[in-house]
Amino acid sequence: MTTKLELRNVTKTYGKTKVINDLSITIDAGEFFVVLGPSGTGKSTLLKIIVGIEQPDTGKVLIDGKDVTKLPPNRRNLAMVFQNYALYPNMTVYQNIAFPLKMHRIRNIPEKVRNIAEKLNIQDTLSKRVTQISGGQQQRVALARAIVRNPTLFLLDEPLSNLDARVRYSARGELKKLQQDLNQTFVFVTHDQKEAESLGDRVGVLHNGSFEQISTYNELYNDPRTPWIGDFVGDYPMNFIGKMGFRPEWVEVGRGNYEVEIDSSENVGGIYFIHGKTSSGDSLILKADRRYETGERMTFGITKFKEFDVPVPGQ
Ligand code: ADP
Repeated sequence: MTTKLELRNVTKTYGKTKVINDLSITIDAGEFFVVLGPSGTGKSTLLKIIVGIEQPDTGKVLIDGKDVTKLPPNRRNLAMVFQNYALYPNMTVYQNIAFPLKMHRIRNIPEKVRNIAEKLNIQDTLSKRVTQISGGQQQRVALARAIVRNPTLFLLDEPLSNLDARVRYSARGELKKLQQDLNQTFVFVTHDQKEAESLGDRVGVLHNGSFEQISTYNELYNDPRTPWIGDFVGDYPMNFIGKMGFRPEWVEVGRGNYEVEIDSSENVGGIYFIHGKTSSGDSLILKADRRYETGERMTFGITKFKEFDVPVPGQ
């Protein structure tokens, strides 16, 4: 069984700040949905409302069509994995994974723990305390503890952000594979573009309390609905001249109708990103195949652009 999740017109205010503003979304059964947004935009608040740790001021949470807005977390059959994993430090790995099973008086605990530990490749750590294992292993224990009760909806709040870069990269791949194996619904919160790109079937970008765009990462990058999305999504922000937005690589360097004066050149694995300004003062980042010196002028043409009908950032 897989679970469909719906939020309908959800609003949440802390003091005078409206953190979530009339937000509606349907997340399909079996979907890997990523909530992407800068810090402080209400991503964790949204997860807490889905889990039931927080109540919305108005609006509804529906799981498989059933209104669960007033139900406590333990009656929603979902699992949450936190950024800091929230493991019990005085317990062993085995005890951490077994804990939710004991709480619910489930039978065959040793067998269940062993199976899940094997699935996540932490079977050799079962007798260690969680303080004696690596960050990557702790992250798997947190996942194991979430999975062991067979929930149909997983909520993950930046679960990879405490891992160092290399482990993080492999953990991303493993998490995606795990979701596909389990074939369950994942809602994954992050501010990390790479995670959104590699994990999300769809990505919802949270801004000013609601989703400014919901689509594949590719579409966010290539066809942003607003200048704000163009600016926020991507390793580099979109460039803007007037109402025209274009990516660093949507140019042909060396000929064309535009010119920038170079501020700096950045070498990223043999590709150069050139930072410069047009004579009318637009700051641009353009992709080129060689270094340009500060003060040098570079001509370019725009080969592809997106026209916006709303004001662009900084103008
Ligand atoms: P994110 O997860 O995107 O970083 P949060 O959901 O944690 O954002 O927070 C969104 C905003 O709501 C922040 O401005 C934060 O300070 C505020 N906030 C979150 N929780 C509370 C709370 N319990 N009481 C008051 N303000 C809160």
